[in-house]
Amino acid sequence: MGEPVLLKGAPVAKRIREAAASEAAALKAEGREPHLSVIFDPKAPDARMYADSQRKACEAAGLKFSENPYPASHDALIDLIDRLNVERGITGLFLHTPAPAGIRLEEARARMDPERDVEGIHPANLGALVLGVPAAFPCTAEAAVEMMRESGVPYAGARAVIVGRSPTVGRAVALLLLAEKKSATVTVCHSATADIASETLRADFLIVAMGKPGFIRGAMVREGAVVIDVGTNMVKQADGTEKLTGDVAFAEVAPKARAITPVPGGVGPVTTACLVRNVVRCARNMK
Ligand code: NAP
Repeated sequence: MGEPVLLKGAPVAKRIREAAASEAAALKAEGREPHLSVIFDPKAPDARMYADSQRKACEAAGLKFSENPYPASHDALIDLIDRLNVERGITGLFLHTPAPAGIRLEEARARMDPERDVEGIHPANLGALVLGVPAAFPCTAEAAVEMMRESGVPYAGARAVIVGRSPTVGRAVALLLLAEKKSATVTVCHSATADIASETLRADFLIVAMGKPGFIRGAMVREGAVVIDVGTNMVKQADGTEKLTGDVAFAEVAPKARAITPVPGGVGPVTTACLVRNVVRCARNMK
């Protein structure tokens, strides 16, 4: 195989953000400005940084952004969600994870107004994903599919193998693909898959979302596959510093791949852009 195409997220993210920004401007002119409100845990590592990056991404696209710390108890969180659900002007809600101890996250997610659920994780929106009807869908899964398209390799009729079945990433990628009429044939692997390599070796498109740094080795990948690495793992280096690492052993896999996403700089920036797009979608669809 020759040099693989490096599928960088930045140009894809830019296209998505620009389209979202122009739609946001039109909505604002109609008095329906998109506004994302997040609930975050100021004590959680990196939460401040993550909230700041969300603010930056929203404001760069002309969206309003506000933040609320997680209240001290689950009941107080439910009260806050009830208030934000009806607050005029707030068009999107986002719950940071991990939530503080004592918070029952699934209950809290189900309490959100599904029309304001910019992550596509409310049971009603996940149900819409199963049915293949329009809604806000999980951003990371959408980003992975965007990167499959960015490869320029058609996936209609191809074999897509997904490693990971979490509801908002691996399983959601499978459902997004299955919702398309001219789609790939989808296989989903998980921790009980008997022989992962025999599955991944059949993949024309290999989408990996495991949270296991460097798990996918060169010998597990077919020559000419398109490889989408969703994994983001902080791995300690010999010198004590930490490095963001994907689930794919890039140096081994890249020479066999037709196209491959790097980590960092691949799926990640596209996920943020898909979140901004979802905020705009929710504002547009709000009754
Ligand atoms: P998760 O909820 O922990 O799910 C991991 C999945 O991988 C599970 O389905 C698990 O199988 C499977 N798995 C784990 N070890 C395995 C093994 N040895 N063999 C086969 N399957 C295995 O994680 P997630 O939320 O889906 O996230 C996955 C990765 O994506 C993480 O690195 C996360 O940080 C990253 N991520 C990236 C972005 C982004 O924007 N780039 C966004 C979200 C998440 P079981 O179901 O059988 O346990």
